[in-house]
Amino acid sequence: KKRIGMLTSGGDSPGMNAAVRAVVRVAISRGCDVYAIYEGYEGLVNGGDMIKKFGWADVRGYLAIGGTLIGSARCKAFREREGRLNSAYNMVKNGIDALIVCGGDGSLTGADVLRSEWPGLLDELIKEGRITAEEAAPHKHLTVVGLVGSIDNDMSSTDITIGAVSSLHRICEAVDSISATALSHSRAFVIEVMGRNCGWLALMAAVSTGADFVFIPERPPASDDWESEMCEILNKHRKLADYIKELLSNRMKLDTRVTTLGHTQRGGKPCSFDRNLATLQGVEAVHAVLRATSDTPSPMIGVRQNKITCEPLMKAVGLTRQVAEAISRKDFRRAMELRDPEFSE
Ligand code: ADP
Repeated sequence: KKRIGMLTSGGDSPGMNAAVRAVVRVAISRGCDVYAIYEGYEGLVNGGDMIKKFGWADVRGYLAIGGTLIGSARCKAFREREGRLNSAYNMVKNGIDALIVCGGDGSLTGADVLRSEWPGLLDELIKEGRITAEEAAPHKHLTVVGLVGSIDNDMSSTDITIGAVSSLHRICEAVDSISATALSHSRAFVIEVMGRNCGWLALMAAVSTGADFVFIPERPPASDDWESEMCEILNKHRKLADYIKELLSNRMKLDTRVTTLGHTQRGGKPCSFDRNLATLQGVEAVHAVLRATSDTPSPMIGVRQNKITCEPLMKAVGLTRQVAEAISRKDFRRAMELRDPEFSE
């Protein structure tokens, strides 16, 4: 009988609750115990009442709610071995032998780091007299499964991440509202959206709202004119938005406003797509826990061509990092090839 710990970590995304709900209910129906770990890795490091056994009814009403009800955090302590040692202690004390983590590439890397230190952490805890060898015995293997919750859709090896479509909907609604007022006053609007080094939200929103122009990190303005020289200097997104505003105001004499959508694009209700995606992937995450052996690499649950997939987590994280690096050194072709091996201009 598996005892599964579930946590959400890093930036929250709409649909994370649906993933938690699916994991809890499928785990229970498969005869497993399931524990909600509150505030991401904070809960794992601190233990106590931040780890709570969940029953079927504990996730009632979860599907329709944005954000993550079990909380999320950026946890410094978990980046240190000492924090992960405490995490191992709390897992043993709660009997947890599998971990399902829903988060971005940072969170999934953290989970894999924990697994790579297993069972060394247990030996250390025994040596320090914090747990007994008998307590450690059932925990020889740690199973880790990743679910990708991110509005940015910035993870390799999956077509879409949990929350990205909800966020896109929200952006489109906001842009539609802005368009109405823009039209009334013949104003130009520069709209800044999230996505870090992935232009998916910006590009899809631009297409869906009929934007005149879109700036994405994968294709910044060509570097052989002064405008892009200036863009390079004003690398930060906000500065870029201000710059475009100036350009529109001065050259075209357009009354121009900059709107930064900020966290409204992240915080809303999950759309049906994200609820379904998170539910199907949550089901698969529990199945992956039950299939796992000590020598299978930690899997990440994704989706490709409408089929739920299960691929090595660190391979996906590695590819994601390579894409980000290629973009930061302005090798955009390489970035696109890494994202899509069949890519051609
Ligand atoms: P995201 O999961 O959205 O990419 P972060 O990169 O902030 O967000 O990661 C979330 C948390 O995951 C961090 O606060 C930290 O606790 C943990 N984490 C991230 N990277 C590592 C790592 N290399 N080793 C251990 N823990 C990590």
